[in-house]
Amino acid sequence: MQAILFDMDGVILEGPRTDPQVYADATDYALSELGIEPTDDEREAFREFDPDGIRERAAAHGFDADEFWKLRDDRASELTHERVRSGDRAVYDDAETLSELAERTTTALVTNNRHRTAEFVDNYFEFGFETVRGRDPSMAGYQRRKPNPAYLEETLDRLGVDGGLYVGDSGVDVVAGQKASLETAFVRRPHNRSVDLPAEPEYELESLTELLELLETVDSH
Ligand SMILES: [Mg+2]
Repeated sequence: MQAILFDMDGVILEGPRTDPQVYADATDYALSELGIEPTDDEREAFREFDPDGIRERAAAHGFDADEFWKLRDDRASELTHERVRSGDRAVYDDAETLSELAERTTTALVTNNRHRTAEFVDNYFEFGFETVRGRDPSMAGYQRRKPNPAYLEETLDRLGVDGGLYVGDSGVDVVAGQKASLETAFVRRPHNRSVDLPAEPEYELESLTELLELLETVDSH
């Protein structure tokens, strides 16, 4: 197998996504940096990931929506990294397999989460990824996230491979992987035990440790 690419949230980091409170706090931080004191309803609306709505509200308040977006994303990364360092957000036990996989094939991380957080996880845990890619801290970056295969395709280019396996925990991972001409593996975790998928993955895994065996089987054929 040329390469194994991994999703991050729900595959490596416990839980399917960033805690909403992180984005709420990051939104408050960004608004306060910009000197904006919105009403409670507006504050709620600013917490949404809604580029058009954010642009409208930013224009009404006279600040730059792109600046707000980046301030919020950067703050959300800092808060997330604190949660990982303190152990509030852990990695799954089977993530220790990643280092072993990295010794046997090329591995990479491709996530809808922010690029800074992907880099942090790579540096903090040293799983041996060849490269990591998260979304850019901009509205354009947000709009390129999966199921758009853009970040996956960019990563394949960087690795110099044209195929491999993408391991994810959600339907968008399977869809994006297929669009990028990758095989896909769906990991069943407590949060997605009974999820119905929009597309059929090649493999379903109960644990990342199964990838060691899969790698041997595929490579011996
Ligand atoms: Mg995920």
